[in-house]
Amino acid sequence: MRDLSKDHRWLSINTATLRQQADFVGIVEACAKRGIRAVSPWRDQVAHVGLDRAVKAVRDAGLELSGYCRGGMFTCDSAHRQEMLDDNRRAIDEAAALGAPCLVLVVGGLPQYSRPGSTPSKDIRAAQAQVSDALHLLLDHAKMANMPLALEPLHPMYAADRACVNTLRQALDICDALDPSRSGALGVAIDTFHVWWDSDVWKQIDRVGKERLLAFHVCDWLVPMKDMLLDRGMMGDGVIDIPAYRRAVEAGGFDGFVEVEILSNDWWSRPVDEVLDTCIARYQTVV
Ligand code: ZN
Repeated sequence: MRDLSKDHRWLSINTATLRQQADFVGIVEACAKRGIRAVSPWRDQVAHVGLDRAVKAVRDAGLELSGYCRGGMFTCDSAHRQEMLDDNRRAIDEAAALGAPCLVLVVGGLPQYSRPGSTPSKDIRAAQAQVSDALHLLLDHAKMANMPLALEPLHPMYAADRACVNTLRQALDICDALDPSRSGALGVAIDTFHVWWDSDVWKQIDRVGKERLLAFHVCDWLVPMKDMLLDRGMMGDGVIDIPAYRRAVEAGGFDGFVEVEILSNDWWSRPVDEVLDTCIARYQTVV
């Protein structure tokens, strides 16, 4: 397991962590100023400043990316299907323009929440089948763009509205079915917040393999949690044994950036400097 305590060279900041305090360019500059070498942008934050300006900001700051968030929301009714595919192809192209190593996918829950306006459904099995179908259709475009797709299983509390793929096992089963040769075009993003509760996760991390381990996200699980979406904890403030997960993914060959992704009303109310300084300190001590 790598020693992270001496510096922060493998730290990446997911830009959602600072989405209320600064725009994308401001976040890139603040990270670069601290010697943070990588970010993982969100699409809406990139769109807000414009793709060209975002590409230039990353390049001027000499930053790398650890991912691009996010594609997906595959589940929809037939009237929204073309829009969904077009939207995901655009996301793949944006990720390539920015030089991201992968496009992170939040696959969608029930259609009415993933693609609003879709005919309501209670059939989560059908939603899961739609995820595989959409991936099957998008994989060629991703391969042509040389942009790996990273399935991110989300905690089951989001099954209805955000992602009906909720365990690493499910995500890897999809990878096995659609990319049995392990081409590198399809893999997973492992986020401590989403997987920490799962007793099967250790076996599944062993199963991933380096070519499918595309991203590693960290934050903590607070008790009590005030909001299902916007109360993620700073590493060290909650109940997740984060080093245990890092040890496991690194034993599986992962040697990339540790991406801090904290969606939190609490941390959004604090200054950029305080958030980034805390991310660095916790990265060095509790990750
Ligand atoms: Zn994540």
